[in-house]
Amino acid sequence: MKAYAKLNLYLNVNGRLPDGYHEITTVMQTVSLFDEVSVEKADGISVSIDAPHIPRDERNTAFRAAAGFFKACGIKGGASVKIIKNIPDGAGMAGGSADAAAALIQLNKLYGSPLSKKELLKVAFSVGADVPFCITGGTALCRGKGEIITPLKAIPACAFAIVKPLSPVGTPQAYAEYDRAGGVCPPPDAILEAIKSGNVRKLASGMGNALQKAASNICPQINDETERLKAFGALGAQMTGSGSAVFGVFENAKDAERAAAALKRDNNVTFWALPV
Ligand code: ATP
Repeated sequence: MKAYAKLNLYLNVNGRLPDGYHEITTVMQTVSLFDEVSVEKADGISVSIDAPHIPRDERNTAFRAAAGFFKACGIKGGASVKIIKNIPDGAGMAGGSADAAAALIQLNKLYGSPLSKKELLKVAFSVGADVPFCITGGTALCRGKGEIITPLKAIPACAFAIVKPLSPVGTPQAYAEYDRAGGVCPPPDAILEAIKSGNVRKLASGMGNALQKAASNICPQINDETERLKAFGALGAQMTGSGSAVFGVFENAKDAERAAAALKRDNNVTFWALPV
């Protein structure tokens, strides 16, 4: 199964929740870059992954998804999960979350749908705040920690060039720096209106990410790459999630592909992708 990445077209931090987590308003978009996740019934839970630096044990999101699935449905089952990684980690592209979502969807199918969609989303949220969105996908306004999902109309035709600096930024690290240094983001009205009206230029100018300043303090290449995307002709460019990947919005696949090729250099990885 394809486990698609996401980009945050908009992300604002509204404040802190009583449990210390940050409450956010974000517009998430599924994009065509994907990991491949396959699941088979087995004795016990195991994960194999073609990226040696990513843990295979209970720290792996797909492992936690499988454990959460069996606990929630009360089945004494097991799963062997195989992951082929293409989505960079520590990028703000929900790579780990997408793998967990794909594992959950496949497990529920393999075991005869013991969990309703609502129950599956609950297990997803216990694995990570972005996992419920990775199950529903498309374009959505997400609130709370990201789990309160309102589906939106599909965004107008466009394409993304994505630049991932080699240094990752950890999500807790980015939020800690945000608490210290702050960050700015316009209100969501402009981007929501642009999605409604299907205007890609307005969509690009209505974007924002309150975490970009903080993540750039940790990894200055984030702002550099954003500026390079803009200089190359992106209609708008910014960081996704808590970084370190940044993306530019282009009118078509050809332009995004050209930007991804031109902006490749030694200390980054580049991709291009379409909205899914
Ligand atoms: P998000 O946008 O959800 O914050 P991210 O790009 O910041 O995602 P991930 O790709 O999920 O972060 O990776 C963060 C860390 O999680 C990695 O450093 C990695 O060690 C760990 N991890 C655990 N399971 C996975 C997985 N299946 N794929 C990628 N990373 C995983």
